[in-house]
Amino acid sequence: MNRVSVRRLLLALATTVVGASGAIPLRGQAAEDSTVALLRQLIRANTSNPPGHERLVAELLAPRFRALGFDVKIIPTPDSTKAAIIARLRGDGSKRPVLVAAHADVVGVEREKWSLEPFDGIEKDGFVYGRGAIDFKGGMAVFARAVMMLAERKVPLARDVIFLAEADEESGGPYSTNWLAQDHWADMNAEFALNEGGWIMKGDDGRVRYVSISTADKSSVPLTITARGTSTHSSMPRPDNAIFALSRGMAKISAYETPLTISASTKKFFLALSKTSKPPLSEYYRDVVGDDPVKARRADSVVSRDPLLHSLIRNTIAPVIISGGFRNNVIPGSATATVNLRLIPGSDANALVSTLKQVAGDPSLEFSIGSRVYASAPESSDTTELYRALEKEAHAVFPGAEVTPYLFQAGTDAGAWRSRGVPVYGIYPYPIDADELTRMHGNDEKVSVASLKQGTEMIYRTLVDVAAKR
Ligand SMILES: [Zn+2]
Repeated sequence: MNRVSVRRLLLALATTVVGASGAIPLRGQAAEDSTVALLRQLIRANTSNPPGHERLVAELLAPRFRALGFDVKIIPTPDSTKAAIIARLRGDGSKRPVLVAAHADVVGVEREKWSLEPFDGIEKDGFVYGRGAIDFKGGMAVFARAVMMLAERKVPLARDVIFLAEADEESGGPYSTNWLAQDHWADMNAEFALNEGGWIMKGDDGRVRYVSISTADKSSVPLTITARGTSTHSSMPRPDNAIFALSRGMAKISAYETPLTISASTKKFFLALSKTSKPPLSEYYRDVVGDDPVKARRADSVVSRDPLLHSLIRNTIAPVIISGGFRNNVIPGSATATVNLRLIPGSDANALVSTLKQVAGDPSLEFSIGSRVYASAPESSDTTELYRALEKEAHAVFPGAEVTPYLFQAGTDAGAWRSRGVPVYGIYPYPIDADELTRMHGNDEKVSVASLKQGTEMIYRTLVDVAAKR
């Protein structure tokens, strides 16, 4: 194909993404509509990790950004199927850049538990279905469309706006943002950044109750518990059976609950939640972060029925893998459990492990901590220009909702910035409800078309606030 055709193709691609009216600056709904079209294409690029194949996403996005005048770099990794993409829209340089980051990989699926194809990008009954609809192809589509709209509408910028799609967030693989930051920090350095994290949470009536913007992540620590016994013929069982020993210890740990541990942002979050709730819940939300330990314990027992809220107020313990044995007539010499600990910033993993040893009550069980998948990083300030803009536009797009900083219950790859002193704010940029939240990393993951539009509007307006020339 000759150069002119390539150019025409690129323009045509850009036109498909921005909608029927093409390269003319767009107003109103049309531009936000194309978030849906982009999300469907991103879902079709199957980036289940492992193995990832994140280069698919870089190659899908690169021509679209180039056609809009972004400086685009595809950053290869030693694994040729994995790449990151950095697209920079230039400002006049009077302010330092703002960055939006989205991981390109998704977790795998249990195909037989899905009622429709997880990688077809299906739009049905007002929802887009597919792996990553929420985590985080949906967010990537919103972030990408919001920065593209700055270019389409020719918004004059005081600072560069950088879009980054990175690899290896979901699997703990080697080519994550931490890897990228070692050699490409200059390309991803910014005054502040947006990433996945907090929630735009709907209540039972479908209205947005609160917008939580994450300012810190919990850290993730893998713990292995091993029981050992005599390996022998299963016709002559002995008392030192490794599987029984492991099971007894695990049963005791299952009955243990960690104490309340409330961070500064968690306190603000629950006070915001209290304001949007009716008694008695409003009182429980207030009490669980309050100073009265008796009231806090009582509130904990109610609040913790919600798994998300439960995870915000304490370190958590989740067995994720159990293994032992290999034949039906051999007693194995060992059995192991992998337990995923999720810690509030400032918590001591070793102290929690010592407690678990005591709880298990069997000195012969071996406990060992693996390397941290997500290291703890300092909390980002809720007074920066970007946080303030998010807060303002969340109020504008979702009137009546509380807006609050938030300790994210899971891990993200924000540590690459936070550990270098760059504040990162996390949001899943679309209103969701409890049912949709359950499907994240689960089955029939979906996000609503209306939510994608609202999210695109909120993020676009936020970027205009922080990056447009005044
Ligand atoms: Zn994610």
